[in-house]
Amino acid sequence: LKPEIIVQKYGGSSVASPVLIQQVAARVAETRREGANVVVVVSAMGKTTDGLLALSRQVTDRPEPRELDLLLSTGETVSSALLAMALGVEGIPAVSLTGPQAGILTDAMHQRARIREVDTRRIHHEIARGKVVVVTGFQGRGDNDEVTTLGRGGSDTSAVALAVALGASACEINTDVDGIYTADPRLCPAAKRLEAIGYEEMLELAQLGAKVMHPRSIELAQLHGIPLVVRSTFSGGAGTTIREVSTMSIEYVRRVRGIAHDLNVAKITVTRAPDRPDAIAALFAPLAAAAINTDVIAQTAPVESGCDISFTVSNDDLPRAAEMVSEAARSIGAEGVLHEGHLAKVSIVGVGVQATPGIAQRMFACLARLGIRMAMIATSEIRITAVIPRAAAAQAVAGLHAEFIGPAEIAAAHPTKRAAALA
Ligand code: ADP
Ligand code: ASP
Ligand code: MG
Repeated sequence: LKPEIIVQKYGGSSVASPVLIQQVAARVAETRREGANVVVVVSAMGKTTDGLLALSRQVTDRPEPRELDLLLSTGETVSSALLAMALGVEGIPAVSLTGPQAGILTDAMHQRARIREVDTRRIHHEIARGKVVVVTGFQGRGDNDEVTTLGRGGSDTSAVALAVALGASACEINTDVDGIYTADPRLCPAAKRLEAIGYEEMLELAQLGAKVMHPRSIELAQLHGIPLVVRSTFSGGAGTTIREVSTMSIEYVRRVRGIAHDLNVAKITVTRAPDRPDAIAALFAPLAAAAINTDVIAQTAPVESGCDISFTVSNDDLPRAAEMVSEAARSIGAEGVLHEGHLAKVSIVGVGVQATPGIAQRMFACLARLGIRMAMIATSEIRITAVIPRAAAAQAVAGLHAEFIGPAEIAAAHPTKRAAALA
C-alpha cells in the first residue's frame, strides 16, 4: 500500500530565521512521524526577495529578465537547503530540490512564468528512498531551459501545482495568519476568520490585492478541485479551507464575503482622444508590448471633441506607463495625458454582490459618509471596486467592513499586528 503524500508550504515569514527554520523542521518531522510522506515547499527567508530586487536595482534599472530570475531564485534555494539540513538534525532524512530539479516546468515568461506541468519522477524517486522532499517555491525551468520565477507570492502556486501532480491527499498553506479573514487583519482589526471560502470568491479577493494567496494557486486548485487549508505555521488552529462552497444557501449567497485592498495603484487619463477604435487600441498597444497590466478602464461618452479614457496601472509602473501613453497620445492626436499616483483600490467581494439590490449605493454612501473621494469605479458579477486616495485606504476598509460584514466586535484581535502595520 502506497502511503499518502501531504504537501506543506511554508511562507517567507515562517522561515525568516534559522531558529524558525528549526521550528518548521520540527513540524514537518511531526507530520512525517505520523506516517505520511511529506513534500515541503518553501519561500525565501523573510524579505529576502525584496532584498535581491533592491540589489539588482543598485546595478541596473533594466536587468536582463533571465539574470533577474537567476538572482531572485536564489532566495528559495537558500531556505530549502537550510530546511533539509535542519530536518537531518531532527533525524529525518531529507533532500532539497530546486524547481528545475523537482521537474517544475514553466513557459519562458521570466518574472511571471506559468507552470505547464510537473515531471514528478525525481520527487517520487526521493520519496521511494524514504526522504522528505523540500522543494523551492517560486521557481521552475522554463521551456527556454532557463530558471524562471512565477511572480511575487508565487510559492503558493508551486505548492498547489505539486499537490495536483502528486495526487496529494492534502495541501496546507502555512503562513503568518491563522486563516483567510474578511479583510487584511493587519489593516482592519475587526476582520474575522472564515471557516471556509469558495474558490471564486478567494480568487477575486486575491486578484484585487489580498496578498495572502497567489491568484494562480487558486485557479489551479479550482481547476483540479483540490481543497487548500490556510493556517498559521506556529499557532495551531483549524485555519480556513478554500474549496467548492455550495451556493444553494440564501444566507451564503446574500453576503459580502470580504474586503480587499491594493495600495499600489495609479491612474492615467488621456483627454480628448479621437473617438476611433484604432485610436484607443493604439493607446494600449505599447503597454501590452511592455507587459504592463492595465486594470480599471473607463471611457467617457464621446462628444465632438473626442472622449476621455482613464485606466489604472500599478503605481510602480506609473513612470514608464505615463511615458509610453504620452507618446501614443501624441501620435493619435489626443489633447493630453494626466496622471495621479498614490492611489488605492478597495473592493467588496462576494457572490452576493449581484444578488443583493442596492449594494453599490450602500458602498458609495459609506465612502461618502467618510468623505472619501472616488477616482474610479468598476464592477463585476462578484465585486465592486472603488479607486480612492491611498491615504484613505485603511479608513475605507474599516468603514466598508463595518457596513457589510459586521461591527468591530473583536477590535482587539490583532493588536500587535495592527501596531506593526501602522508603524
Ligand atoms: P507568506 O510569506 O506566508 O506567503 P504573505 O505575506 O504572502 O505570507 O501573506 C500573508 C499576509 O497576507 C498576512 O500577514 C496578511 O497581512 C495578508 N492578508 C491580506 N489580506 C488578507 C486576508 N483577507 N486574510 C488573511 N490575510 C490577509
Ligand atoms: N519569495 C517570493 C516573493 O517574495 C515568492 C513567495 O514568497 O511566494 O514574492
Ligand atoms: Mg505569500
